[in-house]
Amino acid sequence: MRELSPWAIRSRGREDHRARYARYIASRAWFARREQWVSDERARTCSQMVRCWGGCGNDWRLERDDMHHVSYVRLGDEAHEDLWPLCRGCHDALHQLMDSTRSWRKLHRELANEQAIAIVRARFSAAPRVRLRDYL
Ligand SMILES: [Zn+2]
Ligand SMILES: [Zn+2]
Repeated sequence: MRELSPWAIRSRGREDHRARYARYIASRAWFARREQWVSDERARTCSQMVRCWGGCGNDWRLERDDMHHVSYVRLGDEAHEDLWPLCRGCHDALHQLMDSTRSWRKLHRELANEQAIAIVRARFSAAPRVRLRDYL
C-alpha cells in the first residue's frame, strides 16, 4: 500500500475534524451543552448576566452570540473552560488573529487562544491602545 505523505495525513485529519465539528455544531447535543454551560456559569459567578469574554463589555446571550471552542480535545464532552462565550465581533477578531499567520497555527491551541484573547481584550483596555492590525 502506498504511504500517504505526512501532509496528506494531516489534511485528511483536518477534514475529518471539520466534518465531525460541523455535525456536532448542528446537533441538539451541542445546543444542550450550551444551555448547560450558561447555567453552570451563572452558578459559578452568582450572576444572571454572562459577559462576552472578549473584553468588549457587552452581555452575552445564548440565543444571539457565539461560543468558542478553546480546545477540541473533548469535543462533544467539553469541560467548562473549553468554551468561551464571545459576541460575534470578538469571536471574529479572535479567529482573524489566530488564522493570520503560521506562527499562531503552530502554537499549541490552548496557548494560542490565551495569547490571542489577551490581544483581543487589550483593544478595549484604557492604557496603551492595541490595534488588532498590528498583529496581523
Ligand atoms: Zn471560535
Ligand atoms: Zn465581545
